[in-house]
Amino acid sequence: MSSSSPQQVTLLGATGSIGRSTLDVIAQHSASYRLHAVTAYRSRDALLEICLQHEPARAVIGTESDAQWLRTRLRDAGRGHVDVSHGEAALLEVSRAAEVDVVMAAIMGAAGLLPTLAAVEAGKRVLLANKEALVMSGGLFMDAVSRHGATLLPIDSEHNAIYQCLPMQRAGRHRELIRDGVSRLLLTASGGPFRNWSLEALANVTPDQACAHPNWSMGRKISVDSATMMNKGLELIEACWLFDTAPAQVEVVVHPQSIVHSMVGYADGSVLAQMGNPDMRTPIAYGLAWPSRVDAGVEPLDLFVISRLDFEAPDDVRFPCLRLAREAMEAGGTAPASLNAANEVAVQAFLDGKLSFLGIARLVSATLQATEVCAADSLDVVLCEDARARQLAERLLHQRSF
Ligand code: NAD
Ligand code: MG
Repeated sequence: MSSSSPQQVTLLGATGSIGRSTLDVIAQHSASYRLHAVTAYRSRDALLEICLQHEPARAVIGTESDAQWLRTRLRDAGRGHVDVSHGEAALLEVSRAAEVDVVMAAIMGAAGLLPTLAAVEAGKRVLLANKEALVMSGGLFMDAVSRHGATLLPIDSEHNAIYQCLPMQRAGRHRELIRDGVSRLLLTASGGPFRNWSLEALANVTPDQACAHPNWSMGRKISVDSATMMNKGLELIEACWLFDTAPAQVEVVVHPQSIVHSMVGYADGSVLAQMGNPDMRTPIAYGLAWPSRVDAGVEPLDLFVISRLDFEAPDDVRFPCLRLAREAMEAGGTAPASLNAANEVAVQAFLDGKLSFLGIARLVSATLQATEVCAADSLDVVLCEDARARQLAERLLHQRSF
């Protein structure tokens, strides 16, 4: 593509935390990127405001009545030219549209899988924030990336850091990344808001406490995942697929300052780290501009202000979700999809006040114990397992006390 024609971007999950940061980076480089489509699920007011401010060609929302509402408001504001549609078919359409170059996959949870895969199958440059999509469908997803010549760039800050520290960066060839002399991946974790809390204190954690992350401002689901450390578990699985590595080669390192975003260890003893302020606009700008670099609007790192970097081992007893995720990846097949589905049910139940904080790991564990692992050899199998594990987790939630 010539440098004079702006890249057309579809932003899946525009109203979310990653969506907002992406809009901010795109607005700083409006000559290079044009918004083809923005999507949201329920937040119609926020999507309207985004359409008025950023003028995409298309907007997609969850329901027909919200789409009608949005059309009317846009027409009243003199923006009737924005094409508004709704539902899953429309999400797939804007993900694979011929005029689109880049798709930012920033829908939360399993709902992002099909649109993200549609972008992969259309051979787009896919910026992957939606880790649950890859956790669920791992091998199928990575095979689709190679088969359709898509370019997959990790946006999750840890994976983006590893990507930057690996020796080779070839578009769409992630399976070749772990090569000469790489001995391990060091995935950093902030430890979340409860890093030093006792088990007794963890028993009484509220949703608002769990969503108040010390370093990152994120959506509620990933904030709870960070607090339980399931986020790091999902990221461990994500790293295994992205970089074609075994779980044993991925070491989790708790680093409370969130300045080192992750590291790569080499056979000669070298460890390369990527550092920066905890601001998702850095990996987003990296993904948009790759292989170039552009200003992300992020404050430069001031090491004198930070002054120290600490590292410690994770605690499997207080934070068992990390172990559950590692075991699911080791079990293989549909186990990571079951883990993800059970976790989505558990986190929602916690946010709705129906499950305690410590109950999240217990419900996920009970669901996995009652689940048989099958080969994840088709998308149908994965989607079936996702639905089955959700039903099972819901049933256990009502039957037992966690
Ligand atoms: P969020 O909750 O702030 O936003 C989620 C977006 O997805 C919203 O636009 C929402 O409308 C849309 N959405 C939700 N459910 C949907 C559905 N059923 N169908 C269609 N759209 C739906 O989430 P977030 O924090 O921006 O995270 C988005 C993804 O990025 C997650 O997978 C998360 O794990 C990942 N991620 C986020 C961060 C972060 O800093 N926030 C960092 C790394 C990775
Ligand atoms: Mg992360």
